[in-house]
Amino acid sequence: MEKCTQILVVEDEAIIALEMTRRLERLGYQITGAISRGEDVVEAVQSNPPNLILMDIMLAGELDGIDAARKVQEQFDIPVVYLTAHSDDNTLERAKTTTPYGYIVKPIDQMWLLSTIEIALHKHNVEIALRKTEQRFRSLFETMQSACALHEMIIDESGTVVDFVFLEVNPAYCSMVKRTREDLLLRRGSEVFPGLEPYWIRLYNDVAQKGAPIHLEEYFGVLGKHLDIVAYSPEFGQVATIIHDLSAQKNVEQKLEYRTFHDPLTDLPNRALCLDRLTQVMERAKRNLNIGFCVLFIDLDRFKIVNDSLGPTFGDTLLQQVGRLIASTVRAMDTVARVGGDEFVVVLEDIDNRAEAVHAAKRILDRLKRAVTIDDQTVYTSASIGILFGPNGYNHPGKILQDANIAMHHARAQGGGRYKVFKESMRAIAERALSLETELRLAIEAKSFELYFQPIYALSPMKLSGFEALLRWNRNGSGLVSPAEFIPIAEETGLIIPLGMWVFEQALAMLETWSNMRPDLDLTMAVNLSARQFSQPELVSSLSELILRSNIDPKQLKLEITETTVMEKPAIAAGKLRALKELGVAISIDDFGTGYSSLGYLQRFPIDTLKVDRAFVSCMDEFENRIIVKSVIGLAHNLEMDVVAEGIETQEQCEALVRLGCQFGQGFLFSRPVEQHHAQNFVLEA
Ligand code: C2E
Ligand code: CA
Ligand code: CA
Repeated sequence: MEKCTQILVVEDEAIIALEMTRRLERLGYQITGAISRGEDVVEAVQSNPPNLILMDIMLAGELDGIDAARKVQEQFDIPVVYLTAHSDDNTLERAKTTTPYGYIVKPIDQMWLLSTIEIALHKHNVEIALRKTEQRFRSLFETMQSACALHEMIIDESGTVVDFVFLEVNPAYCSMVKRTREDLLLRRGSEVFPGLEPYWIRLYNDVAQKGAPIHLEEYFGVLGKHLDIVAYSPEFGQVATIIHDLSAQKNVEQKLEYRTFHDPLTDLPNRALCLDRLTQVMERAKRNLNIGFCVLFIDLDRFKIVNDSLGPTFGDTLLQQVGRLIASTVRAMDTVARVGGDEFVVVLEDIDNRAEAVHAAKRILDRLKRAVTIDDQTVYTSASIGILFGPNGYNHPGKILQDANIAMHHARAQGGGRYKVFKESMRAIAERALSLETELRLAIEAKSFELYFQPIYALSPMKLSGFEALLRWNRNGSGLVSPAEFIPIAEETGLIIPLGMWVFEQALAMLETWSNMRPDLDLTMAVNLSARQFSQPELVSSLSELILRSNIDPKQLKLEITETTVMEKPAIAAGKLRALKELGVAISIDDFGTGYSSLGYLQRFPIDTLKVDRAFVSCMDEFENRIIVKSVIGLAHNLEMDVVAEGIETQEQCEALVRLGCQFGQGFLFSRPVEQHHAQNFVLEA
């Protein structure tokens, strides 16, 4: 059953009190007590709290009803309804200050009593509910992370807005502006923020007048903060603002933006920023025809080798130092960017004299040539630089970098450590290389390669000794592309690795077939190995797997490695060669005589065969060449190496070689490289 309303009656006239209690009980109320003295009210409420107090204003004791009501209000939230017989204005005024919930005039009318009590209870309930929501809003307001303020616009006599005042602020607002609430309330905006721009007052007034809410992100100068502001008008002439401080976020954004446009390793602008600067420089050059600019594309020579042999940490430090070195050689206004692994770009602005740019390139080359020491390790760096002059009709910054890169490749192709100025003619060559690269990728997928074989003979007496496998690319069926053209591209792009594996598989398969046909010949198969293949870590394991799978004796396989490849990193090469030897395969030094020609050094390596380069053989008619070939053959034999002469085209060359003691030879005189079934005839007929 619903708990019925409990009422405390305070009435000093006993008869009235009694009658009232009866009536109330008849109306369904419960009486918590009927007391006659104002002094006892608080205690009565305390011991048995009622829902409502019916309070006679005139009480006999020291406290009258109004005083007693005030005492109750101080401690409790219980509605009071006054009973009054006759009321003078003065008393009524006093009664009002206690905001009573109603008056009942004696003599008491039953209906009036009932409705007054019910209205009072209802009012009180509504108030409680309201207070609760208000409290909820208040605590929200107080604890909100967003700063909130309520303002009223100040309008002067002429009707123009002059300022706003603070009506209310929350703690977040106070901490945002670093002032207390007391310090803000009823203060003017211009007082709180000296130097406040009139813009803000106009903006607030707009909202206060029109009532339409606004949302904006602005830099609030007087606070030095980026703010996100929502403003609306809760009442005409007022503006409420909800403010988010974005400064911290903006800071993060700025940092993020910095990171987006800078290389984390060197802290230099990255490719994106470099392109952006180039765009700006291009725009300026377009507006002012007298302004030229220049781009230097710098690529370290042999960085990969340094990185591979001394480790990536060393490589990173080296790149950092190189970045600093380059930056130190150019003007502060010039952009130095790192656009790729070991690629740097310098954008020289306002260059009106080409010599200046060339000078800058030379300075950088000079600076880089000096030794760099990192953790007791000293390396000598050098770079290749492509120089490009603008504006020269360029519309796209990417194109500028591309052409500068092409010029760099030309410098690199000439041995590195130098610069080259971009010329239109370079582009055609680069484009061909580029399309070759794309086609090469497709060709590897499509397997449009073929392996040719050139026979190698023992010269005296003549006997087929084996073959050299030589790669052929049937490009779109439009003829064979020379490996001299596509192998370097395959090298550069890494495509040589899958391609090389394919060559091994084919060559070993043929070797197995032919050996089975003619076990008596003890055939060998020479396979060329490029620098990249040679330095590939998996080389030994993949080769060993292939050999195990096939049915050949490993010593029948001869790996041809150029002198240059071996001498590039002799220490690493030595280990690699030993590992290959352990597989049982034979090692040939290819193109001997074109590189370092350091036989003294080569003797430390486990080498089986020396292949004398075609260049010496083809001009054996000349006396000195003959001397060279003779001494090479002699030395090789001393080191217990076999010698194969390459490129024998004439009978005379062949005879001369035999006289000099050369045991093996290959060349057009015997046969060009031929396809597989043709080569097979050599095997069958031998
Ligand atoms: P290389 O290893 O020095 O191969 C010998 C080159 O000399 C071959 O050129 C061959 O056709 C050519 N040649 C042979 N006898 C004569 C002759 O009497 N006169 C003249 N003028 N030339 C002769 P090719 O086949 O064009 O190969 C060029 C280079 O491409 C090879 O030089 C080798 O370095 C590379 N290469 C070829 N196949 C492969 C391969 O499968 N893998 C790798 N990594 N490189 C290969
Ligand atoms: Ca070769
Ligand atoms: Ca060769």
